[in-house]
Amino acid sequence: MTSVSPDAHSIRAPRGTELNCLGWQQEGALRMLMNNLDAEVAEHPEDLVVYGGTGKAARNWGAYDAIVRTLKTLRNDETLLVQSGKPVGVMRTHEWAPRVLLANSNLVGDWANWEQFRSLEAQGLTMYGQMTAGSWIYIGSQGILQGTYETFGAVARKKFGGTLAGTITLTAGLGGMGGAQPLAVTMNDGVAICVDVDKTRIGRRIDHRYLDVAAMDLDHALSLAIEAKEAGRPLSIGLEGNAAEVFPRLLQMGAPIDIVTDQTSAHDPLAYLPVGVSMEEWRELAAKDPGQFTERARWSMARHVEAMVGFMDAGAEVFDYGNSIRDEARKAGYERAFDFPGFVPAHIRPLFEEGLGPFRWAALSGDPKDIEATDRAIMELFPENEHLHRWLKMAGERVAFEGLPARICWLGYGERHRAGLKFNEMVASGELSAPLAIGRDHLDSGSVASPYRETESMLDGSDAIADWPLLNALVNTSSGASWVSIHHGGGVGMGRSVHAGQVCIADGTELAAEKLSRVLTNDPGMGVIRHVDAGYEYAAEVARERGVRVPMAEY
Ligand code: NAD
Repeated sequence: MTSVSPDAHSIRAPRGTELNCLGWQQEGALRMLMNNLDAEVAEHPEDLVVYGGTGKAARNWGAYDAIVRTLKTLRNDETLLVQSGKPVGVMRTHEWAPRVLLANSNLVGDWANWEQFRSLEAQGLTMYGQMTAGSWIYIGSQGILQGTYETFGAVARKKFGGTLAGTITLTAGLGGMGGAQPLAVTMNDGVAICVDVDKTRIGRRIDHRYLDVAAMDLDHALSLAIEAKEAGRPLSIGLEGNAAEVFPRLLQMGAPIDIVTDQTSAHDPLAYLPVGVSMEEWRELAAKDPGQFTERARWSMARHVEAMVGFMDAGAEVFDYGNSIRDEARKAGYERAFDFPGFVPAHIRPLFEEGLGPFRWAALSGDPKDIEATDRAIMELFPENEHLHRWLKMAGERVAFEGLPARICWLGYGERHRAGLKFNEMVASGELSAPLAIGRDHLDSGSVASPYRETESMLDGSDAIADWPLLNALVNTSSGASWVSIHHGGGVGMGRSVHAGQVCIADGTELAAEKLSRVLTNDPGMGVIRHVDAGYEYAAEVARERGVRVPMAEY
């Protein structure tokens, strides 16, 4: 079944209003799948890899071609079923049903580890879907930028009087997700040193204006950082190197680092470069002996995390940025790996309690003016939200679009459906030149079970309960989403997460309005009830005030 697509390197979603499919719901899925693999968006489009180590949009080129072919003929009362990136069936459903249902990387509990996964993947039976890679709503680094901006903003409020001016953040990983870190830090007025073993990633982030400069070596990076810190000037510096060597070295030198985190692909030991292995040897060694490579990567991660703990002991604000590096270091025998917290319990949980999370949309027209119009509409819709206005203004000025123009902002329960309905009206009136795809990351308030990240340290100990994301997918399917997905292992790796996604197409029709008002209410509603159920008082208040029904609280 594996075939090489002749245009694998030049996939680009169609733009404009001409349909290639029988309706906009299918057309939206087609364009967003293709957009995920656009060379401007995907990290390795030739391998169908979108981001996050090996997160793919389709199993292989044969499967990709078959999905595209099927979407083009899929009727408005049919649903395409995709099993880990391979289209496996078309079923007669009805117009309220999703046009596509996807299940990615799911494994039965006892088999849910990388070893089993890789063996099944090698047999061609599955693929790694990450979060938005296999569910066709990845929008490049901007997607993570908002979340990262929020997180660093929260750090600034908690420890540095509301601004990162005069501070240095040390981090690693400038990939699809991690590439947002330098801009998120400078948007909060701070200085960042960002380490990556791959200098092409550094160049790419500079090209996209997410990163300011590349340092020649470690001493150069540090002197640039100290100069900017002292001047209170924002600056982001890319430094080529292995974090497992650079972090301990900077600690040893007594570098004045205030904040430390990391976004290498630590969730997958084969995607983390161990000390002593060169970039050139990486893929070959990992493929030849994955067991030994994993051991070496874990040993290096332990040195990397040990240095992070050292910075914490020296007074820095240190947090895990959701890549599971603490657990990998623990597996290598480093006992203090969990001495610093994950970013969700440390900073994000209160936002999740009110159903807030990464709401996003992409203009299927391909016209940046459509996004400008939606930015204005959001500001008008939520005139009182200054934080949101600040973000939208900066995003409008600083974010270079990758692939189809898109925008993200964090909206909560009672807000998202208002935005969705407004957008749908704008499509209907012709104010927007074509429909929008409206979706979100799986890293949301009620769509993920991930004990090392989104559900770390839940109040009632329910961190590993995975019923919530499954209910989330079921409710979105029942509410009229255009495509819905259930994944395993995204973000933090195999065995560590279960999560769900949804995307709706706002095509300007009455039917789309009906669907949008339900999906964009019920989806964040899952976040509110999940946190009410876990005993969070603020979530209970939000539920009472905004009318979210929770049977166990009704008497
Ligand atoms: P990616 O694979 O695109 O990028 C990882 C980067 O790490 C690459 O550029 C690689 O060269 C670099 N790297 C690997 N080993 C290194 C080492 N030893 N030293 C320095 N650099 C090294 O991955 P991504 O999409 O950027 O995701 C990064 C991680 O963040 C993943 O584990 C992902 O699951 C996690 N993640 C976190 C969040 C969050 O909200 N915090 C969201 C999504 C993903």
